[in-house]
Amino acid sequence: MTRSADIKHRGSTRHWALGLILGGLAVLLATLVLLLPGLERIYLGQLGKREASTLTLAVEGLTGSLRRFEALPGLIAERPDLARALRDPSDTALIDRVNDELHLTAEEVGLSDIFLIDPTGLTIAASNHWKALSFVGRNFAYRPYFTGALAGERGRFFALGTTSGERGYFFADAVRDGSEIIGVLAVKFTVDAFEDAWRDGANEIVVLDDAGVIFMASRPEWHFRSLGPLSPEARAAIEDTKKYPMDRLVPLQTEQEPFDDTFRQVTITNDTGPVERFIVQSQMIPEAGWEVSLLTPSEQAWTRAIGTAAVSALLLLLVGLIATVVIQRRIQMQERIAAALSMQEELELRVTQRTAELETANRLITQEVEERRAAETLLRQTQTELIQAGKLAALGQMAAALSHEFNQPLAAVKSFARNAGAYLDRGEPDKVRQNVGLIDDMVDRLAAISTHLRNFARRPGEKTEPVLLNRALDTALVIVEPKMRASGCRVSRDEIDGEIWVQGGQVRLQQVFVNLLSNAVDAMSDVPDPVVDLVLDRDGGHVHVRVRDRGTGMTDAEIAQLFDPFFTTKEPGKGMGLGLSISYNIVRDFGGTLEGRNHPEGGAVFSVTLKLAEAPSLAAAE
Ligand code: ADP
Repeated sequence: MTRSADIKHRGSTRHWALGLILGGLAVLLATLVLLLPGLERIYLGQLGKREASTLTLAVEGLTGSLRRFEALPGLIAERPDLARALRDPSDTALIDRVNDELHLTAEEVGLSDIFLIDPTGLTIAASNHWKALSFVGRNFAYRPYFTGALAGERGRFFALGTTSGERGYFFADAVRDGSEIIGVLAVKFTVDAFEDAWRDGANEIVVLDDAGVIFMASRPEWHFRSLGPLSPEARAAIEDTKKYPMDRLVPLQTEQEPFDDTFRQVTITNDTGPVERFIVQSQMIPEAGWEVSLLTPSEQAWTRAIGTAAVSALLLLLVGLIATVVIQRRIQMQERIAAALSMQEELELRVTQRTAELETANRLITQEVEERRAAETLLRQTQTELIQAGKLAALGQMAAALSHEFNQPLAAVKSFARNAGAYLDRGEPDKVRQNVGLIDDMVDRLAAISTHLRNFARRPGEKTEPVLLNRALDTALVIVEPKMRASGCRVSRDEIDGEIWVQGGQVRLQQVFVNLLSNAVDAMSDVPDPVVDLVLDRDGGHVHVRVRDRGTGMTDAEIAQLFDPFFTTKEPGKGMGLGLSISYNIVRDFGGTLEGRNHPEGGAVFSVTLKLAEAPSLAAAE
C-alpha cells in the first residue's frame, strides 16, 4: 500500500470508528426514550408503595374518629332528662336544661352538634340551641340516621348539614323509655380538621361514599364531585335524604385505567383546565361504607424517569466520550506505530540504497586504485626507461666531454712527441727534454682525469660505517692548506666538542670536504680578505656541516645545475664540473644530503647533513 493510500485508509478507519460510536450512542439514546414509559411505570409503582403509609394513616385517622364518636349517641341517650323531655316537650325548663347539658357535652367531647329529635323527626333540644341557625324546631325525618335509629339501629350518615351548610358525620341512637323508643339522639362531627391535615401533604386524599360521591377531599373544589356518572337511583337517594346539594353533583372529568392489583392511574381534567395525572390507591372503611383514595401526582415519577434517563444519557455520553477518546488515542497510537514502521522501512530502504551506492563506489575506487597501480607501474617503467635514456644521454655527454678533455692533451702529447723527434734529428737535446717534460705534464693531467673518473665510477651503496667527522675535516683542511695559503685564504672554524661519529666512509668524506673547501677558495679569488666559515650544527640524529664563503654566490640557473656532472663555470683546465656531482652521490650514499644556496649576507653556503653514528669500539679506517 502506498503511503497516501495508507493515510487515507487510516482516516477512513477513524471515521468508521467514530461513526460506530455515534451510531451506538444514538441507538442507546433512542432506546432510553423508548424505555421512558416503562421507567415511569417503575417509578409510579415505587411512588405508590412509598405513599401507601400515608393512605393507611389517613384511613386510621378517620376510623379512629368514627369509632370514638360512634358510641357517644348511645351513651348520651341514656340520660333520663332526655326521655323526660321527649315525654313532655312543653316543659321549657326541662328543655332548657337539656339544651345546656347537650351544649356542655358537645364542648367536652369535641362534637360539632348534639341534638334530640322526637319520633316525628322534630328537634326539640340541641347543643346549638343558642345559635341563630339552631337545629331546634327543625325536622330531620328524611335523614337515614334518624330513620335508622328510630328503627332501633345505630344510625350513621354523612351529609351536608342542611341547617349549618357544614359537612358532617352523623351518628344517632334511639332514646328509650324502658323498651319503647321515644325519640332519637344524634351527634354530628365536622370533617374539616381532617382535610386541613391532608392539605399539607404532597398527595391528594379523597373520601367517596358508597354512591361514589367525593364528600371529603384535600381539594375543596372536588367536594360533592363524583369520579364517574351517578346512577339515577343514587341521585334519587341523595335527593331524598338531602345528603348533598344536587346542583354540585357534577362528575369530575376523569379517565381511569388499572395500573396493577393495588394501584390505578387516573387522569383528571379540571374545570379550570389543567390536566393532572395521579397514581391512585384506595382503602375501604367498611363500617362507614367509605372508600378513601390517595391520589399521588404521577409527575414525580415522570420527573424521576426523565431524570434517570437524562443521567443515563449523560453517563452514556460520558462513556461514549471516553470510548471516543480511548479509540482515537488507540487509532493515533496505531497511526504513529504505522508511521514509525513506514519510516523504518524507508530508512532500511535508504540504508540498502546507500549500501549499494557505497558498494558501487567501493568497486569504482578499487578499479581506480588498480588503474592507478597500472599507471604507476607504467610511470615507473617510463621513469626507468627515461633514466636509462638519461644515463645514455649522460654517457653520451660524458663521452663527448671525455673525448674533448682527452683529445686536447693527447693532441698536445702527439705534437710534443713530433717536436721531440724533430729536435732529436736536429741534435737539440735540451729542446727534446723540454718537450718530453711537457709530454709528462700532459700525461699527469690525463692521469688526474682518470682518477676523477674512477671516483665517479664508484658504485653507490658501497658499505658505510661510523667515521670520525673531526678527522675527515682535519685531513681535508690539511689537503687544501697549500691551495689556501697560495690564495691568502683563511678558515674560521667552530671548536668541536669531543668526537663526532657519523655514518659514512673516511676517505670519501674527506673528498667531499676537500671539494667544498676548494670550491670556496676558488669562489673568492677576487675577494680581498677571503675567509671560509666552517660551522657544525647538531640536530637530533643528524649533524650539519656548513661551508660558507664570501664570494660572488651563484645565479639561479647555476643553482639549478650545480650537481649536474661536468657543469662548471670555471675556465677550461681549472675545473671539470665533476666535484659537486661526485660529492652529491657520496653524501647520498651515506644516507645524508648536500645542498647549495646563496647566503643572505652574500657568498655561497654548502650544507652537508650526515647521520650521527655510535662510536665503534675500534675505529675503522677506510
Ligand atoms: P668545478 O669546480 O670543476 O667547476 P664543481 O662540480 O666542483 O666543478 O663545481 C661546479 C660549479 O659550481 C662551479 O664551476 C661553480 O660555477 C659552481 N660552484 C661551486 N662551488 C661554488 C662556490 N663556492 N661559489 C660559487 N660557485 C660555486
